[in-house]
Amino acid sequence: MSRNRSGHSLVHSALDIKSWQQQLPTVEAVRPARCPACGAASHPVGGPLGLHGHGLRERQVRGPAGPNAPAVLLVLKLRRYRCLPCGAVILVGPRELLPRRHYSAAAIGFALALYGLVLATAREVRRRISPQTILGATAFTGWATLRRWTRAVAHRRLFAALPSSDPSAMLRRVAASAAASLAAYAAPTSRGEALEHRAFLGAAHAA
Ligand SMILES: [Zn+2]
Repeated sequence: MSRNRSGHSLVHSALDIKSWQQQLPTVEAVRPARCPACGAASHPVGGPLGLHGHGLRERQVRGPAGPNAPAVLLVLKLRRYRCLPCGAVILVGPRELLPRRHYSAAAIGFALALYGLVLATAREVRRRISPQTILGATAFTGWATLRRWTRAVAHRRLFAALPSSDPSAMLRRVAASAAASLAAYAAPTSRGEALEHRAFLGAAHAA
């Protein structure tokens, strides 16, 4: 569980963005088993429902749908629940969503791999990951967002489950080690694919 700026908890469902988009899951299908705030069972046996469906909430998510796909901006509808015992509002969404990040976990994992392992320039990483086509002044010196992600990884504010890296290391080194760790989360069936593609796939599971 994690909290976003508005204090809502974000809970991952097992669904990925693609399946979520194809068919919005029902309130019942993705209702969390317990309230992440107070731990109350959402559907106690023989008791009243603890977590009630509380409508939908739109959320933007940026990045390519696959390693070879163009970068896009999607607007997803997340499921919202309210906990009757404690009043908490809980958002449930696809597993690639990260709290407080506009980009999908897969997009960020891919960006780290392109920068750290493929040694792409920051500008090239931006071209592959960002749906924004108008480049600001920062495009000439690098991509501030990429630096922010890499620093966040080094300080374990992003992909906190990864082994710690030395925050004083060069950003490319930090990105490379994070991307290699993310690739290890990818399904064994992807073993024949390029490491940066596996970082894309693995990041969705490390979110
Ligand atoms: Zn609660």
